[in-house]
Parts: sequence; structure tokens; C-alpha cells
Amino acid sequence: MSVIHGKAACQVCKEQAAKYKCSTCILPYCSLACYKKHKETPCSPPISEESPKEKPVSAPLKDMDEEGSLLTDEQLGRLGASKDISDILSNVDLQKILKELDSAQDPEKALDQAMEQIPIFREFAEKAIETVAGPRTPE
Ligand SMILES: [Zn+2]
Ligand SMILES: [Zn+2]
Repeated sequence: MSVIHGKAACQVCKEQAAKYKCSTCILPYCSLACYKKHKETPCSPPISEESPKEKPVSAPLKDMDEEGSLLTDEQLGRLGASKDISDILSNVDLQKILKELDSAQDPEKALDQAMEQIPIFREFAEKAIETVAGPRTPE
């Protein structure tokens, strides 16, 4: 682009310093006359990096529960102290299932499946829920 007196030159007549820019193609021009001349031919917006094209935004996987534990420390304590739970946890099958769940790609799904298909696990889960809920207080 030629420059006149430190300013971009009109890209139509190339003689005057450009004072304006075409609102479409940002071509610099000096006057209305040059603008009209420029508009005799259709122009199109320049390809620019700042064009507000939608970038594919990779959605951050924030759905995962960052809290991690489903249970409070108190509830975990109750579980740990429960004889029922420790009894049931001594079951080798259950230990295996828990280990599998731990390394499952989709723990939630694996948990659902285990609940549906594995009686010992369901028993454990129910007992755990019962234990976590705390001792029943008579009304
Ligand atoms: Zn001009
Ligand atoms: Zn233009």
C-alpha cells in the first residue's frame, strides 16, 4: 500500500492521502468521488483474523462432580464403624465388584449395573444407605 505524508494513500486514485475507509472492504479512499468510483465495482469484506467467526469451543467437562465423595466424613465414619458393613465387606465377591467399580470407565453406569445384577452389591448398597442414614430415632 502506498503511503502519502505518513498516511495510507487512497486506493482509488492513489494520489491523495486516504481519509476514509470503505465500510465493506476497508479500502482506504480520499473522497466521496473516489468512494463512488470504488463502489462501481462490488467489493467484499476482507478476510481478516478478527472476523467474528464462531470458533469451535471445546466445552470444558465441568459436569463432573468435583466434590468427589458422595458421603460426608461423618457418614463415612458411620460406614466404617458399622459391623454390618464390615461383615458384608468381608465378602470376596463384593470386594471384587468394588474393585471393578473403582476402575470402571463409567463408574455411575457400572454402579447401576451392579445394583441391578449383583445381589450382594445391592445388599451392600442398601445396608450402606441404611447405615449412612443413621440410627432410626423412635418417634
Ligand atoms: Zn482518491
Ligand atoms: Zn469497498
